[in-house]
Amino acid sequence: MMETHHEPRLFRDKHSWRDIGNNVVNPVSENKKTDLIEIWEALQIIQDNNPQPIVTSMPLLDALGRRLALDILAPEPSPRHTNSAMDGFAVRWEDVAFTAEGNHITLTIAGESQAGIPFSNICRSNQAIKISTGAILPNGTDTVIRVEETQIKDNRITVLQARNKGQDVRMAGEEFAAGDLLLHRGTALQAPQLGLLASVGINEVPVYSPPHVCLVVTGTELAAPGEPVAPHQIRDSNSIMLNTAVLQAGGKVVGRHYSGDTLEDTEIAIRKSINKAGIIIVTGGVSVGEHDHVKEAARKCGFTELFWRVKQKPGKPLFFARKKDCLLLGLPGNPVSGFMCFMYYIQPLLRSLQGREFSWRKAKARFDNPVKNKGNRTNFMRISLRKEESGFIIAEVLEKQGSHMLGSIAQADGFIIMEPGKYLSEGSWHDVYLFPWKM
Ligand code: AMP
Ligand code: MG
Repeated sequence: MMETHHEPRLFRDKHSWRDIGNNVVNPVSENKKTDLIEIWEALQIIQDNNPQPIVTSMPLLDALGRRLALDILAPEPSPRHTNSAMDGFAVRWEDVAFTAEGNHITLTIAGESQAGIPFSNICRSNQAIKISTGAILPNGTDTVIRVEETQIKDNRITVLQARNKGQDVRMAGEEFAAGDLLLHRGTALQAPQLGLLASVGINEVPVYSPPHVCLVVTGTELAAPGEPVAPHQIRDSNSIMLNTAVLQAGGKVVGRHYSGDTLEDTEIAIRKSINKAGIIIVTGGVSVGEHDHVKEAARKCGFTELFWRVKQKPGKPLFFARKKDCLLLGLPGNPVSGFMCFMYYIQPLLRSLQGREFSWRKAKARFDNPVKNKGNRTNFMRISLRKEESGFIIAEVLEKQGSHMLGSIAQADGFIIMEPGKYLSEGSWHDVYLFPWKM
């Protein structure tokens, strides 16, 4: 059994990542005959060319699920004013301190501080001010007696019990002061975070914009969804699948362009996408066939090739190019190949453009049947998962892994990465990559 595990681990500091990459032990990488790059090299190149995330200001109502692009400091303290934590009476501690020794004290009710209608005078000695929860503590008072701890008669109260000075008072700034860090950059905005922002008067927040993606779908053989399909045609399933995967990764699809397999058509479709989106995902036409024009069309549109062909299965013809801040990823047309390339390379890229790590959701799972990669390319094998009663996750490699067999991804919960020669013996544990909608 050969342990060739490389499992690229990604850190913010690209160089430490590269160090790990160089430590990879992979006998096949010694094979200089191949011009294919390793999957970790492809990841590295994609990461090195990560464009700057786009930041936008969004009203709170639209910001659900987005991530903060800046640290947010509190513009004001919380609470904004010293107020009562209870319904009761605001008093001066010096007047009620004796009750601690079992004495009862009687005070005159001199007014009221209601939430929204403060008491405008000063509370004097032997007076109490009726107060409701959240109302401003009247001048002169420092303590609140809960209504349950008093007896009220006419305009007087008897204080039965006062425990300590300052009881049931919320001090201005006790939660945070103006200028304190409220929320970190990168925080996902959910209901509580949006509530917190609203509580300090912030109505718009700087967030990472959903990355704009254009899809270019190539293939003369394709019939659009809903259209009649001739015997020589293939139904286009990549459009809806990739469109949906982009949305699930937090991206926004800003255009879909279709092209037949001619250089001219392909070039036009790519050109239409350039100024619309920071990421262009092309499907099909990226292999070595006579009718594969994506690489040449991209070059004619001004893109520089960064890599082509990765030592992986499926998805070997993966193509990556860049024109300034616009990235182009050419996925093989085979639906499974394209989808796996999306999951492994593009999904983390879309995440990282939204203030998250360039990373995947993973879990550890046990393989109760041996698994082997007999091929000479890294294999993304689709797996199904189930949870044992003990809570352990058990993984099984799905049958029918052909790159045209969409059923294998429709059933899958995720995938494993198996380097050439890698063998998992019965009962061994391995990292599994989870599809975002599973488990
Ligand atoms: P290509 O990468 O263009 O050589 O395409 C490889 C295979 O994927 C061919 O069998 C195509 O018919 C199929 N294919 C290409 N594009 C799509 C698509 N949009 N939807 C479904 N199958 C496709
Ligand atoms: Mg094609």
